[in-house]
Amino acid sequence: ISSRPFNFSAGPATLPEPVLHRVASEMLDWHGSGMSVMEMSHRGKEFCAILEAALADLRELLAVPANFRILFMQGGGLGENAIVPLNLSRGGKVDAIVTGSWSRKSAAEARRYADVHIAAEGNGRNIPKDWQLRDDAAYVHVCTNETIDGVEFHDLPRIANGVPLVIDCSSHMLSRPIVWDHVGLAFGGAQKNIGPAGVTLVFVREDLLGHALDICPTAFNYETVAANNSMYNTPPTFGIYVAGLVFQWVKGLQYAGKRGLAAIEQRNIDKAALLYSALDASGFYENRVEPSCRSRMNVPFFLKDEKLNDSFLAEAKSAGLLQLKGHKSVGGMRASIYNAMPLEGVQALVSFMKDFEARHG
Ligand code: PMP
Repeated sequence: ISSRPFNFSAGPATLPEPVLHRVASEMLDWHGSGMSVMEMSHRGKEFCAILEAALADLRELLAVPANFRILFMQGGGLGENAIVPLNLSRGGKVDAIVTGSWSRKSAAEARRYADVHIAAEGNGRNIPKDWQLRDDAAYVHVCTNETIDGVEFHDLPRIANGVPLVIDCSSHMLSRPIVWDHVGLAFGGAQKNIGPAGVTLVFVREDLLGHALDICPTAFNYETVAANNSMYNTPPTFGIYVAGLVFQWVKGLQYAGKRGLAAIEQRNIDKAALLYSALDASGFYENRVEPSCRSRMNVPFFLKDEKLNDSFLAEAKSAGLLQLKGHKSVGGMRASIYNAMPLEGVQALVSFMKDFEARHG
């Protein structure tokens, strides 16, 4: 077990410690090549092997269907807010479901390229019902885990009219399986569950390629990126290498008699249950999200006496619990408990919270 503090950052976020050790040990000389991965040509045989292994492991972990392409891009989630409509909207209609800050931002950016209709809007603590979808929309955009608000879709919506879903799964990608049936495209930045910031992952159904608007930058045209196996321009090589090590780590993880993604998911369920039940049992803290859509990854919570916020953060830091401050738009606290956060980290947080309550409650 590590001597490092537990880091609850929302992203860039804590990475699996074995991966960090591996990266350190391979930093100056990757597999006897005499080069750091940072120093390799992206077209050389060494990096090509790294890329192919990462793609194969990710495809296996998430059971990505054969008719989907996996792209490693740059520009982050916010870049995708423009890149998706540039590629998929055909300048026509886009329906958007607003469940919090990130989906609201996506809808606003898509307006620059398409006719965007907010088909349903939640209150930041729920998933709205009664979606007013249009049959002729190019796609329906959903943020499947709202990192700031802590609202997660535990089941993907089933769109009856065959319009593809575009899911922003930045902050819960690889924390659970994805049911691909209604999905046309999934995207997310790497910096939560996958690896360092700078890599953006895109999963796109092949039949959606080839319809980019003329104004779409060539380097952001999915068809071009796919045709060049994510090497149209120089990909973020070091980030892809670290992501590949994270995929191997997930594949080998064992927990509660399970292995790989099933083990990660079970561990995430247990971590989240531990934290939410401690919050709900206390009169001192509260989480305000409807229980049916509480995020397993990002747990915003409040001290009922907000005057204690600064002491809470300072004492948590002294106790080895870092980056618990809530997003500025929400206030309070937020514990992000991504894949790489061990159960012991959440146990340490819960026991600190009880102790803090006992001293200040
Ligand atoms: N979508 C979601 C759900 C996010 O959590 C974030 C980043 N926190 C973004 C989009 C934006 O990603 P980036 O900063 O990589 O552009």
